[in-house]
Amino acid sequence: MHRRLGNEHNLLNINDLIDEAKCYQIVRDLRWPDGVVRCPHCDSTHVISYGSDERQKHRQKYHCKDCPCYFDDLTKTIFKGHHQPLKSWILCLYFMGLNLSNQQIGQELDLHKDVVQRMTRQLRQGIVCRKPEVRLDGEVEFDELYVVAGHKGHRSAVLKKGRPGRRNRLKGARGRGTLEKEKPPIFGMIQRGGEVVIQMLENVKQQTIMPLIQATVVPGTQVYTDEYNIYNPLTDAGYFHKTVCHSRGEYARDEDGDGFHEVHVNTMEGFWSLLRSWLRLHRGISQEKLPIYLGFFEFVHNAKKRGKKLLASLLQLLLT
Ligand SMILES: [Zn+2]
Repeated sequence: MHRRLGNEHNLLNINDLIDEAKCYQIVRDLRWPDGVVRCPHCDSTHVISYGSDERQKHRQKYHCKDCPCYFDDLTKTIFKGHHQPLKSWILCLYFMGLNLSNQQIGQELDLHKDVVQRMTRQLRQGIVCRKPEVRLDGEVEFDELYVVAGHKGHRSAVLKKGRPGRRNRLKGARGRGTLEKEKPPIFGMIQRGGEVVIQMLENVKQQTIMPLIQATVVPGTQVYTDEYNIYNPLTDAGYFHKTVCHSRGEYARDEDGDGFHEVHVNTMEGFWSLLRSWLRLHRGISQEKLPIYLGFFEFVHNAKKRGKKLLASLLQLLLT
């Protein structure tokens, strides 16, 4: 499934994306990579062509001899049943991968920003629902980030470098972010040289983060955190745990004396700055929408691709 879009560069030239016929071909190639059209209802290959859609002439229709039913290139996909041409949807996804705002996408596609907002919401949601579960092992860092995000309808939610003062945070004192305080915490786990998992939480308590850690990180993994007390149960839970003492001004420590300062959470900190600049563009993300933005960025980051290669991964996830 990967190979067609991955290797045939001509399939994802930006010029092709403004070609409606080519967009339909891309969808067909992803849905039916061996070129054999399958019925989306019964999976039969006993399918004949049935002309094309009256209004969208590149949209092929089919008849399944087994169900028997009628379907087309977009039946049961995220792109079915929309007024916008397929190329607008695919271009929209391409621009989302480049992190354009709804307003910028609207300008590029000549669409009202409310229309774009509906499209990006649906695409983002589609990616987040389908993204594969991530498992982490090797060396993994945990950290939390606090962002400012209000409730739906309140436009005050511009992202700030929201991490509260370390001293309070480390004592677990009030002043840490919670959902109610409109400072939702984002919990992050990143494998060095590997993938990341981020999730918005109601609060940062041991009972909130431990199930998430255990569902994501393979037992026996070496984990690094700062000395915040929520991480105390990690050793009992079967992880090798080392902490960096930020409160003592320490940012990395060479514990085993081999010249590498391996005890740090700098990978996670680096990821947070990428996340902050990604989100900064989207002004006023509410708490209700933040998880979807986070999930989308998590997928983009883990795909480790940009531009049209990223688009290929996004389309593949949506269509296969
Ligand atoms: Zn069928």
